[in-house]
Amino acid sequence: MPYGMDDTWGQRRTGDASENRNFISPLWVPTGGFVSIRILSEHNQIYKNWTHHNLAVVSGDREYWTDRVCKGTDKCEYCLSGHKATKMFFAWAYVYNRYWPLSTPEEKRKNNVVEKGKANGREWLIETINGVKLWKRTFGKDDQYWLDLKNFKERFNDTLTDRDYEIHRLGEETKPTYNMMYLDPKPMSEELLVLLSSLPDLEKVALGEIITMDGESPQAKVVDLSPNVRSVAYTSGDNDGEDDDPDNIDDLLPF
Ligand SMILES: [Zn+2]
Repeated sequence: MPYGMDDTWGQRRTGDASENRNFISPLWVPTGGFVSIRILSEHNQIYKNWTHHNLAVVSGDREYWTDRVCKGTDKCEYCLSGHKATKMFFAWAYVYNRYWPLSTPEEKRKNNVVEKGKANGREWLIETINGVKLWKRTFGKDDQYWLDLKNFKERFNDTLTDRDYEIHRLGEETKPTYNMMYLDPKPMSEELLVLLSSLPDLEKVALGEIITMDGESPQAKVVDLSPNVRSVAYTSGDNDGEDDDPDNIDDLLPF
C-alpha cells in the first residue's frame, strides 16, 4: 500500500465525493528526497503513546493502513487480537517543499506538481506544499531520528521551533532511514504564528477523535472501522517488545 496512507485517506476515499473537508494529512518524504519543514509542536507538546502502527483496517469494501493509539492491554481490541503496540510520537509540522530526486519515475509523482530547481547544490524536482502536516513516527530508545530531536533540543536552548529543518529519506523504498538536518535560527513568520494558534488538539488527533484541520470528528456512517489485524511487515524503531513497560512510556523518552 502506498506510503503515507492513513485514516484521512481512507475517509476521503470512502466519503461522499461531493464533500470538501479539510482532512488532516500526514507528513511523508519521497524515497531519496527530503522535505523542508518548521516543527510547530514544541518538544513538551509532542504527543507520545503506545500505538498500533500499520494496522490493516477495513472501511466498507476497502482496506488501508492506519495507526491506533492503544487503550491499554486489557481493553484494547487490537491488543486482544494479538497486535503488538509500539511507541509513536505525533507532532505538527509546517512543510514548505517536498524534494524528489530527478530519477523519480513519472508514475510515482503523477499527482504531484513539481518543478525542476536547485537546493543544497543539486537539482531536484520540487513540489510546493506550504501546509500543515501531521508528523507521526514510531520510535525507540535506539532510534536515531528521535535521538536527533533530543540533541537538537539540548543544543538549541530547549526548543525545537526556532528554526527550519530538513528530513532526508535514504535507503530503499521499503527500508528507509531518515536523517534530520537543521538550519540557522529564524523567527517564525506572522502567518505561521497565526496557524499555530489555530491547530486542532494534538492528543485528540492522535486518538482519532479529530480528523480535519477544522476540528471535525469522524462520522460513524462514513467509516465503519472493524479491526482486521495482521502482523506488520514493516516497522521502524524499537518494536521488539522487550523491556518495554507499557505503564512507563516516559521512562524511555529522551524528553
Ligand atoms: Zn492495544
